Order: sequence, then structure tokens, then C-alpha cells
Amino acid sequence: MQLSRLNRVRAIDTENATMTVEAGVPLASVQHAAAEAGLLFPLSLAAEGSCAIGGNLSTNAGGTAVLRYGNARELVLGLEIVLADGRVWNGLRGLRKDNTGYDLKQLFLGSEGTLGIITAAVLKLFPRPQTSSTAWVAVEDVSAAVRLLGVARQALGDRLTGFELISADCVTLTRAHFPALPDPIPGYNWYLLLQADDASANSPLPAQVEAALADCLSEGLARDAAIAQSDAQATELWNLREHIPEAQKREGANIKHDISVPVSRMAEFLSRAKEALDDAIPGVRYVVFGHLGDGNLHYNLSAPGGASSPEFLDQTSRANRIVYDLVAALGGSFSAEHGVGQMKRGEMERYKAPIELELMRRLKQTLDPQGILNPGKVV
Ligand SMILES: Cc1cc2nc3c(=O)[nH]c(=O)nc-3n(C[C@H](O)[C@H](O)[C@H](O)COP(=O)(O)OP(=O)(O)OC[C@H]3O[C@@H](n4cnc5c(N)ncnc54)[C@H](O)[C@@H]3O)c2cc1C
Repeated sequence: MQLSRLNRVRAIDTENATMTVEAGVPLASVQHAAAEAGLLFPLSLAAEGSCAIGGNLSTNAGGTAVLRYGNARELVLGLEIVLADGRVWNGLRGLRKDNTGYDLKQLFLGSEGTLGIITAAVLKLFPRPQTSSTAWVAVEDVSAAVRLLGVARQALGDRLTGFELISADCVTLTRAHFPALPDPIPGYNWYLLLQADDASANSPLPAQVEAALADCLSEGLARDAAIAQSDAQATELWNLREHIPEAQKREGANIKHDISVPVSRMAEFLSRAKEALDDAIPGVRYVVFGHLGDGNLHYNLSAPGGASSPEFLDQTSRANRIVYDLVAALGGSFSAEHGVGQMKRGEMERYKAPIELELMRRLKQTLDPQGILNPGKVV
């Protein structure tokens, strides 16, 4: 959506810890404006240099700090919307408490532009972290990773900002295309990238992260761990994580899934999906990474070595059915943070309860009776 002329930060209220911003402001500029005011806007994703806050809010973007701050929809206090009939709803309230009826803004957040056009928003701001700790941890399997998540949450509370799972195959693939990236602890099956932040400058956080990881090592939950000793090392670890999608793109044909399941079912999901896919597409390569702390994985497949791209991509529907049927059986979602758009409308028909689809269509009919807003998307 072309809203680049809506490019102003209208106001920053540091006492209320809010920012009022127009929809076309790039996410990186929103983060920058918050930092200039001594505060933090925590939404962060690889596309932050190119995407706009209006796009982030209309897709309810997730990113790397959902564990602590929530999805985009949880970072919004008010919206300004242009409705399908051309009227403007000014809901730019900066209130953390407002129980005056339906929370209408939530209808527009995550609705991918199908119910109204977001022109401005009041965003929540947070204290800037003054102390951070970033660790790269080797684990034997995903069950150990999930148990380690529990230990880290207990030890660090809501200072645990990010908890990413990365397979060893992802590291190999990414370093094949970006050889300058590090391989901090080679030789294990799975890795975790753990980020913890504290707003206090004199925080004991680094020592607490070290102690929690030492416990995990002695209990056998972790096999090895490396803690970044500088901001530059922390950035390198995150670079390794953030370059996985681009490396997979360079590698060739791929079939991508952005799924979520309850964290407690993640290990079961991975073993059952692999068993079924190994059977269906012999030699398929797995590129599995994502936000384990949120129960959200990018469960991507690459063509077996030597397979032609068209031959592999012909398997897309089959692979999708295996993955999404299993996700549904485990109480998960076929689209955790990437939305529905046009591509996943068929999955809506298959996996959403008829009553949910009916309610969505009635809302669409009420707010956009002529179907002029993003026709053919979502419902
Ligand atoms: C490299 C890369 C990494 C990414 N990583 C993540 C990630 O980690 N987590 C995550 O959740 N997502 C991720 N994404 C997807 C990302 O959430 C979306 O691309 C981004 O939030 C959308 O912003 P945009 O400005 O690009 O929107 P667009 O692509 O322009 O629009 C997205 C949709 O929203 C609608 N829309 C746009 N603006 C408005 C508006 N103002 N009002 C109403 N509707 C509107 C559009 O019509 C379209 O349907 C990634 C994307 C890329 C390319």
C-alpha cells in the first residue's frame, strides 16, 4: 500500500510513553525516533529498513521480541482509520485503560487492509535496555530446548526478550552463502539464540544469564554455550540468525511454512512432520528456525540435492497438507506471523471453523459492503 507521504511522527509523549506516528513511516524510523526520545519501540524484524509501520500493524507483525513485548497488536493504544465509505475514525487515544465498549482498533490490527486503512497510530514505548546479554547455546534436541526455555524464564523473568531456535543445517546453509558469519560452537544438532535485556544500568543480568546457563550445562539441558562478550559479537550472532531466509533463497527452490503450535507440542510436531515428509519427499532438506519462545517456527523445506526446482515445487500442496494437517491436529496455526493474504485463503476454508469464517465475513460485509478494500484477501 502506497502511503509514503504519510511520513510524519506527529508527537512523542515521554511521560505517557507513547508516540503518535503516521502509517507510512518506516519501522526503522519509528525505532530511531523512540531512541532519540530515550525510549524503546520494541518491534524488530529483518525487513525493518523497508517496511512501514502501517504494514506492520495491518499484518500484526511479530519479530524477535514477541516473547517479552507481544505482537504488533499489543504495541498499539490507538488508531486513525479511513473507512471504506471514506469517513475517518479518529481513535488516536493514548490510554492504557479504556473499557468503553468494543475494542474496535483490534479489528483493524492484523486484518491486512481488508476492513479499513490505517493512517496513523498511537504506539506504546518502553524503557530502553541498559544492560543486555546474548548467548548462543548448543542443545541435543528440541525437547531439551523447550526445557531450557522454562529454566531461562524462571531465572530471568520478563527480561528474557528473545529465544530463537536454529538447526545446525541452517547454520551450515547460511555460512555456505555468507562465509564471514560465525559458527560459534560447531558440531551440535540444534542451537538457541537467547537475548535478555534489563532497563537498569547496574543490573546483575549478565551474571544471572551465566548462572542459568551453567545450571543447564550441569543438568545436561545444554551441551555447550557461548556468551557474547561485546555488542559486536552479539550483533554477529543475530546476523547469523537474520541471514537464514536470504541464504535459503540463494540456495534455490523452497517451500515455506510459518507455523505455530503450543511450545509443549513443538518437539512432537518436529518429529512427526519429519517422519511424514521424509516419506513423501525422499531427500528433502529441512531449514528450520524461528521464535521457539513464541511457539512459532519457520518450517521451511529445500529441494533434495540434484532435484530440479519444478519437480520439487510440484510437491508444494502435498507438503503443505502434511504440515498444516499436523499443525491443526496439535492445536496450532498455519500462519503464525505472516498473515493470510491471497495465498492462504484456501487454508482458511480448510482449517478455520465455519462459525469463525462466518463472523469474519459478516464483519467484512458490515465495514466494507462493496468489497473495495483489498478484495480477494483473507476472507
Ligand atoms: C526480510 C523479511 C523479514 C520479515 N520478518 C518478519 C518477522 O520476523 N516477523 C513478521 O511478523 N513478519 C516478518 N516479515 C513480514 C513483515 O511483517 C511484513 O512484510 C511487514 O510487516 C509488512 O510491512 P510492509 O510495509 O512491507 O507492508 P506491505 O507488504 O506493503 O503490506 C502488507 C499488507 O498490509 C496492507 N497494508 C499495508 N499498509 C496498510 C495500511 N496502512 N492500512 C491498511 N492496510 C495496509 C497491504 O495492503 C498488504 O495487504 C518479514 C518480511 C521480510 C521481507
